[in-house]
Amino acid sequence: MSFEFMNPIGEILSRPALGALARHTEAPIEVRRLLASSAARLTDSSMVIEEEFHPFKDVGESRVRNPLPQPDVLHAIRSLIEEVRVTGFGPNAARFFGLLGAVMIDLSGTEAQKERVQGWVDAGLTACFAMTDRGGPLAHQWLSEISTNTPPRLTVDKVWSMNANRSDFGIMIVRQGKSMVMAPVLVPPEEFAKAETSQSGPAFLDGHLPLGDVKLTIEEASSDWVLRTGGPISSKVFLSLARPFLIQALVAHARWLEENGRLRLDTTAAAALEFLSQAARNQSAKPYFDKHSEDQAMALKWVANETWLHLVVNGLVPGQDDARDLISLSKMEGSSYRCFFEIYQRNKRFRDVAA
Ligand SMILES: Cc1cc2nc3c(=O)[nH]c(=O)nc-3n(C[C@H](O)[C@H](O)[C@H](O)COP(=O)(O)OP(=O)(O)OC[C@H]3O[C@@H](n4cnc5c(N)ncnc54)[C@H](O)[C@@H]3O)c2cc1C
Repeated sequence: MSFEFMNPIGEILSRPALGALARHTEAPIEVRRLLASSAARLTDSSMVIEEEFHPFKDVGESRVRNPLPQPDVLHAIRSLIEEVRVTGFGPNAARFFGLLGAVMIDLSGTEAQKERVQGWVDAGLTACFAMTDRGGPLAHQWLSEISTNTPPRLTVDKVWSMNANRSDFGIMIVRQGKSMVMAPVLVPPEEFAKAETSQSGPAFLDGHLPLGDVKLTIEEASSDWVLRTGGPISSKVFLSLARPFLIQALVAHARWLEENGRLRLDTTAAAALEFLSQAARNQSAKPYFDKHSEDQAMALKWVANETWLHLVVNGLVPGQDDARDLISLSKMEGSSYRCFFEIYQRNKRFRDVAA
């Protein structure tokens, strides 16, 4: 076994992520170092105690490939990314996440649900997407739930959802009864108006992006509000499709910050931005969902998170608010720990024990 740099544990543990990305884009040494350092730092107790640190095996090509839908709204997302390059992410963030919401409805809504949402959007209404639950990160801790009786009772207790305190309707991810199966539920404007909402913390991105908490109980909800098309895999397909576009938008934002003298790039950050830009475009161009897609999307987010943190901890971002924004971008849609841990869980049994 040969190591290119002196962090053998980090190098082994970052391999599945880099291997997944290398299926379309090979990472430069700067990015491999960045991820290996992060992996060594994020190694948790059970890993360090139980791991024998055998190298991971390449898991080979996927036998099953499902074509990825390419909804029309992706064109609008691509042109918005161009706009972020000119004006930064802040003024475009609400529209960007609105478009991602449209992708989600397109993937998991019935024709009737799509029409209903289109009507609200045409009337100028905006939505929030609320996943983070006040109860905690694990499914059994979630307080938000839709009951299985008729009519169902809907309980929502969500925190930190973008624009939730100024939205007109919502997509709420809730548990279905006592099961651990999650479902997105469309809360219509007349019901969302009854929710208790409040802003959580100061807004991000020059005041453009507030996060909000949402609390709501509806005794007589409708099972018609649940987005079921595509089954449970549709949320994985959605995240695999959406994350690379988010990364492209964030890279455009970082370049805009640099042009405006709000961050400096060192060799590592410059190489990482270049890689992220290329890898995110290659990932978005992949026309199918397969066994590598989730790892690829999470690996991309992990590299992005570490790039924003690298900029902050190396003193390359002088402004405190910009530093707070970049740290926050390293948490939203999957922190480094979440990305690292999920990729590890999916790959830990594929090892080269002889090596
Ligand atoms: C700007 C911004 C926008 C957001 N927008 C939304 C939104 O629109 N909708 C929404 O639903 N949510 C939103 N969020 C919330 C965001 O998605 C959360 O930060 C997230 O849900 C927490 O997720 P995580 O699992 O990735 O992270 P983490 O907070 O990293 O962790 C999850 C769990 O893992 C544990 N853990 C973390 N690190 C380690 C470690 N090193 N070792 C062992 N255990 C560890 C933690 O204790 C925790 O239990 C937003 C957040 C931000 C900052």
